[in-house]
Amino acid sequence: MKIGVLALQGDFALHGRALDRIAVESAEIRRAADLDAMDGLIIPGGESTTLLKLMEAGEFVPALEKFHANGRPIFGTCAGLIVLAREVLSPRQFSLGFIDVTVERNAYGRQKESFESEGEAILDGEPGPLRMVFIRAPRIRRLGATVTRLAAYGGECVMAREGSVLVATFHPELTDDTTVHRYFCRMVEAAS
Ligand code: GLN
Repeated sequence: MKIGVLALQGDFALHGRALDRIAVESAEIRRAADLDAMDGLIIPGGESTTLLKLMEAGEFVPALEKFHANGRPIFGTCAGLIVLAREVLSPRQFSLGFIDVTVERNAYGRQKESFESEGEAILDGEPGPLRMVFIRAPRIRRLGATVTRLAAYGGECVMAREGSVLVATFHPELTDDTTVHRYFCRMVEAAS
């Protein structure tokens, strides 16, 4: 199993390190053609408008549509979630629409722009505490009926899944806890 980490912009290196810690092979993806050899893909946090521009310049949109249509799992954190969402607010911008959620960018307000806190993960049935780092994070304002809630913070969904697409508003690569990366790797294993 080999997981690609989109390395156009943002904190891709830390996702590679998280995968190293759980002994999963990964590769930094800089060209759309590199996706062909991957079983799953992580789209990291960063700045979604810049990320989109680089994705469009590198002809990633059709390549990602094919990757997704082939059932290969994709995990988007923060800006990664924003590019995967069905609808983006504040401001509106293009997104891939692979998961039926509406997200609002930078939605925690100025004084809470970046913070670390404890939320609750419900990844494998049993709810458990999970440290979460939010950096100018979006908030999920609407979840489609076929989207599953996997974690909550302050009573709000902060991690969700629809089929082969996993998203989180926080940054699991910034804590030592590998629970979320292990969960994604199980999705990839099950799909390959
Ligand atoms: N605020 C960024 C955006 O709207 C996302 C921040 C992040 O990825 N940490 O694109």
